[in-house]
Amino acid sequence: MSEQTRNPYDICTWRPVSECAGCPLSERLKCRFDRADLFHFMALFGGFAFPAMIGVVRGGYGWWLLGWFAFWLIFFEAWEIRILCSHCPYYAETGRTLHCIANYGSLKLWKYHPEPVSRAEKAQLWIGFAILFGYPFFFLFLGGQWAFAFLAFWGGVLFFWTLRRYTCSRCVNFSCPLNTVPQEMVDEYLRRNPTMREAWEASGHQSALREEEEKL
Ligand code: SF4
Ligand code: SF4
Repeated sequence: MSEQTRNPYDICTWRPVSECAGCPLSERLKCRFDRADLFHFMALFGGFAFPAMIGVVRGGYGWWLLGWFAFWLIFFEAWEIRILCSHCPYYAETGRTLHCIANYGSLKLWKYHPEPVSRAEKAQLWIGFAILFGYPFFFLFLGGQWAFAFLAFWGGVLFFWTLRRYTCSRCVNFSCPLNTVPQEMVDEYLRRNPTMREAWEASGHQSALREEEEKL
């Protein structure tokens, strides 16, 4: 597939890497797919999920894990991917599956949404996270698995803390409620991505770019 057909919204993340030469954001954003970032994310999530699963099984509630896995499927394949990922530059690539540093391989059932994540979507995301992370604790407590509950809790704390410090501070899904990329870097990325910029400005985003252009 040619670069043009693979990248119909002309998002710089999916342009040839040679176009990144000299970009001030290179090395400062996780704006190109890197397997190491994906493995880092999976290892972090495993630090929460594995102790949670072991504890639920040891407590005698193993079959209830099927409900948790069903929620994973619904959340990652249909719900979260619409309210969060469909706004992400990684999602803009042509194709049926997502190639990104976290939800790699998920099906893309929805179209790409270059505009920012809305308030209603952010609220839904917090509800989804609460179910995703809260579900196993119910069964860990019922089964009296206090040590595994503590390990899973600690894994969850490390997951969010490490993610926020090392990934959310560099992630290109800038409107995610966890994202902490500085505004000037967001504007620099929008400068390189006219489709996104137009959608962001139409949604009320105040970037410094327009002021700069008016001064010229
Ligand atoms: S912001 Fe875009 S152009 Fe700059 S390094 Fe990242 S992918 Fe390349
Ligand atoms: S928001 Fe995160 S998980 Fe979703 S596509 Fe972007 S990088 Fe991947």
